[in-house]
Amino acid sequence: ELILEAVDLEYCYPDGTSALRKVNLEVRKGEKLAILGSNGAGKSTLFMHFNGIYTPRAGSIKFQGQPISYKKKALIELRKKVGIVFQDPDSQLFSASVFQDISFGPLNLGLSEEEVTKRVRQALIDTETTDLEGKPTHLLSYGQKKRVSIAGVLAMEPEIIIFDEPTAGMDPRHSLEFIQLLNKLSSEGKTIVLSTHDVDLAYSWSDRLAIMYRGEILAHGFPGELLTRP
Ligand code: ADP
Ligand code: ADP
Repeated sequence: ELILEAVDLEYCYPDGTSALRKVNLEVRKGEKLAILGSNGAGKSTLFMHFNGIYTPRAGSIKFQGQPISYKKKALIELRKKVGIVFQDPDSQLFSASVFQDISFGPLNLGLSEEEVTKRVRQALIDTETTDLEGKPTHLLSYGQKKRVSIAGVLAMEPEIIIFDEPTAGMDPRHSLEFIQLLNKLSSEGKTIVLSTHDVDLAYSWSDRLAIMYRGEILAHGFPGELLTRP
């Protein structure tokens, strides 16, 4: 079942950089989709379209078969369903404490304080950051910030979670822990999309894989069809 889709998507930055050229990509409900590509391939730019942060120059994004609307109210609804964890956790953390930071999104949804607290506690457990809840975010280590930024997205309870280069710069142990967290979310029914330049990770983790190069999708399909292991 299709949930999210890019259709002939094109995007150009104000300086003239053509970042996406006729990108077509399907995200299916419940799958683990990896977008493999080197730096500058257009992965982040594509992700910014998936929850309406960027407006395409041509083509469209469809959610459950319908082109998304860029009206304020519709975007708020879309962002409840499509969450993005950015590569740099500092771009996502801005409250005084970890607890406040994770609460920010759910509070904005207008949920009761009780519901917000319940969601924050669950997100703290899922990301193994319970011991950090009272800590100021600026005192966290990089790995801790990364986990708290994920918790903030989880607390929104999105259907689809998009991770931009989540394991970039991580050592193998942290990478493995992170992949275990993704697999847990996946087993709970979330749709997970991640970008990476790690061929092994893309191959071993994903249900489906798309390869991006210079703003284009070169190939997509099942990992076994696209890559052969040496
Ligand atoms: P990736 O996430 O795969 O590394 P990006 O989507 O960040 O790729 O970048 C795609 C292309 O767009 C690259 O050529 C990059 O240099 C360019 N780009 C990204 N952000 C900007 C920006 N703010 N202004 C101009 N060009 C940009
Ligand atoms: P923790 O406190 O959870 O053990 P660390 O701060 O030690 O986390 O870092 C977790 C992972 O993130 C490590 O693999 C480390 O290499 C990586 N890392 C640390 N700082 C940065 C950074 N500035 N950019 C990218 N990766 C980083």
